[in-house]
Amino acid sequence: MSVFQESVRTILESIGEDPGREGLVKTPERVEDAWRVLTVGYAQDPMATLRRAVFEEHCNEMVMVREIELYSMCEHHLLPFFGKCHVAYLPKNRIVGLSKLARVVEIFARRLQVQERLTTQIAEAVQGALDPYGVGVVIEARHLCMMMRGVEKQNSLAVKSCMLGSFQSDAATRNEFVDLVGRSHSL
Ligand SMILES: [Zn+2]
Repeated sequence: MSVFQESVRTILESIGEDPGREGLVKTPERVEDAWRVLTVGYAQDPMATLRRAVFEEHCNEMVMVREIELYSMCEHHLLPFFGKCHVAYLPKNRIVGLSKLARVVEIFARRLQVQERLTTQIAEAVQGALDPYGVGVVIEARHLCMMMRGVEKQNSLAVKSCMLGSFQSDAATRNEFVDLVGRSHSL
């Protein structure tokens, strides 16, 4: 049994469960398998992922991918938070395959996170790889650590944004982005 699995057994014992009963015998193994998937992002390089897919293009219109599905784990409680991520940038003659933006969201999400840092990391990765005029990222998420424990239940949709470059300095760009984000009512 791995250290991870031993630890899960200890948790089961400490909540008063019997790790030997039928339904729980294979739980440590299953939890380890699940956690390997949930934290696979530590072994992946978001910058390399983006840089591989960058190409020159004379485009100066905002590029946006809306409603990227997001599942992550809150580092404070080791409980999931999930929602949608919206990513946009204003290219400076360099663009990236749209699927790569979703991929970067996933790489950062599959680590222990807080929503604020996740938002910033995605924005900074896009800024770093593309050197665009600006980047905007908004994450709308529901946190099970709040919902299941009854904390702030009424207001459990947390919204965080990170604006870089022209998304921060230029009101028209920011407003265009915020307006596009506002049109999604997906959660
Ligand atoms: Zn939490």
